[in-house]
Amino acid sequence: MEDYKKRISARLQAIADRIEAAARAAGRDPGEVRLLAVSKTKPASHVQWAAEAGQQAFGENYVQEGVAKAQALADLKLEWHFIGPLQSNKTRPVAAHFAWVHSIDRLRIAQRLSEQRDAHLPPLNVCIQVNVSGEESKSGVAPAEVPELARAVAALPRLCLRGLMAIPEPISNLVLQRSRFGTLRQLRDQLNAEGLHLDTLSMGMSDDLEAAVAEGSTLVRVGTAIFGARD
Ligand SMILES: *Cc1c(COP(=O)(O)O)cnc(C)c1O
Repeated sequence: MEDYKKRISARLQAIADRIEAAARAAGRDPGEVRLLAVSKTKPASHVQWAAEAGQQAFGENYVQEGVAKAQALADLKLEWHFIGPLQSNKTRPVAAHFAWVHSIDRLRIAQRLSEQRDAHLPPLNVCIQVNVSGEESKSGVAPAEVPELARAVAALPRLCLRGLMAIPEPISNLVLQRSRFGTLRQLRDQLNAEGLHLDTLSMGMSDDLEAAVAEGSTLVRVGTAIFGARD
């Protein structure tokens, strides 16, 4: 256990170093890029070790599992992000226990989250998930449909539309990786030129965070490179 705890701490430092190197190579301030530690399938004890090493924000893909960890670790005042596919009958616990949702892919989900967000909590931060890989990926909204959805979500009272999220299909070619992330950045710039105020690009994971940071990522979502392989 002590060994694994030390390993998590060392891996968090290694990710911070990768982010810093990628940001500097792109002429960006490394402070513009936040790390979201993706703890899906990992026990609450591992999240606690990462928290003790200084990590604040954690990402979860499954509603029940994420809520259970948020409740078990409530004393630590961590910031919980929901990053998985969300069904409309599961929005209520997400609205209650998470600070962010990255996977908005239709208006109905956003409307329910807004209706269910408690008035005593700050607005729920949300990102629209965009399909930047075309036919190779089924999750997320087609780029052409994003402006209309973004305007509708931005108008909802209990949500704060922060930006866009993408999970490109795994590719090892850096040029192709960058072109997918560049698509997301251009879309964000277009929406801001049309009057929205999006400050977040949620893009980059264990294997492609360098390409994402080079293209302007402000939040990388890293699981395996921190907690090890998932079963
Ligand atoms: C699992 C997951 C991640 C983390 O992926 P790794 O390759 O383990 O870093 C990031 N984002 C989403 C949406 C995920 O589901």
